Amino acid sequence: MIINSKRKSAPRFNFERDEMIELIRQRGISDERLLKAMSLVDRRGFVQQALLNRAYDDCALPIGHSQTISQPYTVAFMTEMLAVKPGDKVLEIGTGSGYQAAILAEMGARVYTVERNMDLLNVSRKRFESLGYQIVSKCGDGTIGWKDFAPYDSIIVTAGAPETPQPLLDQLKDGGILVIPIGDMDIQNIHIIRRIKNEFETKEAHGFKFVPLIGKKGWK
Ligand code: SAH
Repeated sequence: MIINSKRKSAPRFNFERDEMIELIRQRGISDERLLKAMSLVDRRGFVQQALLNRAYDDCALPIGHSQTISQPYTVAFMTEMLAVKPGDKVLEIGTGSGYQAAILAEMGARVYTVERNMDLLNVSRKRFESLGYQIVSKCGDGTIGWKDFAPYDSIIVTAGAPETPQPLLDQLKDGGILVIPIGDMDIQNIHIIRRIKNEFETKEAHGFKFVPLIGKKGWK
C-alpha cells in the first residue's frame, strides 16, 4: 500500500493560485476533490525558475527538452474524466514535470508513471521526494504501458498519439477508463475510453494540443 505521508501543502493564501482554480471552475470542472488537490499542489514547484511568474497562467509552459507542462485546465479536464477514487491504481504515460502525477497522488491514487526522457524523470523524482509523494516511476516507452503493475483502474496519457496503443487497452481493468489525446501532430481530441469486459466505449472532447507521444505504438 502506498501512502502519501509527509506531503507539504502550498501556502494557504495565494491570490493568483485561487484565480487559477476559479477559472478552471468557471470552465466547468466541478469535482471538489480535484479542485482541492489542484490548490494544494503548487504549480510553481513544477516549472522552471525563469517562468515562476507564469506558473498560475492557464497555459502550457516549456519544461526543457522541447516538452511542456500541460495547461492547468487540460490537467483538470483529463483528471475529472478519469474519475479517480482514493486507492485507485493509476498509470500515467508522460511524467514530464511531474505535476499531473502529483495531482493524482494528492487525490489519493497509487500512481505509476512512465517517462521516456531520463533527464526530465530525474527532476520529477526529486520533486516527488521533496514533496513526500510515493509515486512509482520508470524511464521507458509508455506506449507499451507498464505490464508489471497491470491492470489499472485508469490510465492517462499526457502526450498526443496517432491512435490508441492496444497495450494500454489491454492493461485496463474491467470498468477502467483510459484518457488519451488522439489526432495529428498539430491538434488532438481527448478520447475517454471505458472498458466494459472486452468492449470499449469512447467519448471525445475536441481541440487540444499536446506534445507528441513517441514510441513503438506512437509517433516514430
Ligand atoms: N504530464 C506532464 C506533461 C508532460 S508533456 C506534466 O504534468 O508535466 C508529455 C511528456 O510525455 C514529455 O515529457 C515526453 O517526454 C513524454 N513522452 C512522450 N512519449 C512518451 C512515451 N512513449 N513514453 C513515455 N513518455 C513519453
